Amino acid sequence: MKSYLIHIECTLCGVLQDAGKVHRLCPECGGVLYPRYDLKSAAKEFDRDVLNYRDPTMWRYFELLPIIDSKNIVTLGEGFTPIFEISKVAKELNCEKLFVKDESLNPTASFKARGLSAAISKASEFGISKVTIPSAGNAGGAMTAYASKAGMESYVFMPKDAPEANQKEVSISGAKLELIDGLISDAGKLSAQLAEELDLFDVSTLKEPYRVEGKKTMGYEIAEQFDWSLPDAIIYPTGGGTGIVGMWKAFDEMESMGWIDGKRPKMFSVQSDGCAPIVKAFEDGKNHADPWLNASTIAAGIRVPVAVADYLILEAVRESGGKALTVTDESMITWMKTVASLEGMFFCPEGAATLSALKTLFDDGSLLRSERILILNTGSGLKYLELVTLASNSKMSN
Ligand SMILES: *Cc1c(COP(=O)(O)O)cnc(C)c1O
Ligand SMILES: [Zn+2]
Repeated sequence: MKSYLIHIECTLCGVLQDAGKVHRLCPECGGVLYPRYDLKSAAKEFDRDVLNYRDPTMWRYFELLPIIDSKNIVTLGEGFTPIFEISKVAKELNCEKLFVKDESLNPTASFKARGLSAAISKASEFGISKVTIPSAGNAGGAMTAYASKAGMESYVFMPKDAPEANQKEVSISGAKLELIDGLISDAGKLSAQLAEELDLFDVSTLKEPYRVEGKKTMGYEIAEQFDWSLPDAIIYPTGGGTGIVGMWKAFDEMESMGWIDGKRPKMFSVQSDGCAPIVKAFEDGKNHADPWLNASTIAAGIRVPVAVADYLILEAVRESGGKALTVTDESMITWMKTVASLEGMFFCPEGAATLSALKTLFDDGSLLRSERILILNTGSGLKYLELVTLASNSKMSN
């Protein structure tokens, strides 16, 4: 197997960089960098039907991932998560075709596994032995799991009120964990400083070009699992936005290779009303978001007041004819209960947020109840036990 990686390109100024060197943001303009592939050759040589014979992990798309030698892959079995139809929830929302891609079934129980498997694999290929990350929660746990597997030393900066499960999964891996009195943006500054001091590779969201490649595999899987015809809408809980911009990139690549036609899903970006920089920028018609002050939400994964890829998220949402919208934290808890009781799935609050958003999107006419809709459950509710109280009616009595 051979990767079609050709170079690294800046998404803002278009400058090209050598794919054989370690990169972070664009050295010219600070824009987000994307790996680019020789899609012309891939279109001729890479027959998507070979996928039928490959392992059910995200590495089935190896040719379109940025690792050169497959020996450098650091894997715990991430990706190729199932898509389920959730018809009882659909009935509750009075719609017809509702599906969930269940990312809680990834290693470390969230979709962060995809990005970090890609980034740590690439770091390993470069011979890097020390890595650092700022994390609102799940990214830290995923990073340290892959770093441990790769034999790397790892550092994590996390808000001290991040979910207990995330703190503990980092801690048990033997990584160095610094709990800080602040938000992920503050953690980002400390992580960058330490990276400078100790010569660590900082795998902060979209500040290096490899994590997004892991996350884009969701887009490939959605196409493959829906037999190469994308759903009408995708609802995505947005923090740093790696997943939504990654899926959009995957759709571009697949269209270039002739794997899918030009019909794209409407992309909906969901945030909590306690931290909604992307929604504000969307509503104000801007391409960049202002930092959100006093960010607060129970959905730790989307408590992200500043996103470097804000312009890419907004572009995907606008180009697709979707929108960005907020939901309340209370509605997330309500939907967590509803999904668990109707479908047997323990959603994370971020995943539950997509269902709350869906109700709004039907009510305001953004979506028709007959459309084929896919939501992403980005992680497991088991990481957020603090949010769940024992229901008074759950006790048996006689
Ligand atoms: C990180 C995270 C998100 C947000 O993902 P981005 O790609 O950063 O937008 C959503 N849900 C969960 C559970 C997360 O951990
Ligand atoms: Zn640039």
